[in-house]
Order: sequence, then structure tokens, then C-alpha cells
Amino acid sequence: MPTKAILRHIRVETPRTNHERPCAAHRKGRKAHFILAGDTHLVIVEDGKPIRYCPPAAAEILDVAQEDLDKLRQQLGL
Ligand SMILES: [Zn+2]
Repeated sequence: MPTKAILRHIRVETPRTNHERPCAAHRKGRKAHFILAGDTHLVIVEDGKPIRYCPPAAAEILDVAQEDLDKLRQQLGL
């Protein structure tokens, strides 16, 4: 049975150029920052658009995703 990959819209990138990519979690205020060259970060593609998150924000997103996966496993008795 081929296993279906369901996380195709999520990936990790480390840009090589210093183009200013906003961190989606910190767009405004004191914590606002860009993701620059060498900043390994989480990319979530929504409607074909890359939404970028710095590692601290990514940790929270992945924690929630992990809880969701755990819940699905529980529901299936796995
Ligand atoms: Zn950030």
C-alpha cells in the first residue's frame, strides 16, 4: 500500500539571499523582524503563497500540529 504524504505544503528553508521575507508571526510591533540569508525557518504554503515562520513561532505551530496528529491517532485507536 503506498503511503500518502500529507505534509506537502510544509517545508523548511534556509535562504541564501538577504531578500526581506517577513516572519508571519512577527509582522508588527517590537518583535517584528525579517527572515534573512541563513535563517532556517518553517514555510507553510497557503493558496500557493509561502507563509514564513521563525523557529520560535514554528515550534508553537508544530506543537499544535503534533497534538492534532496525536488526537487522530487516538480516534483511530493507534
Ligand atoms: Zn518570527
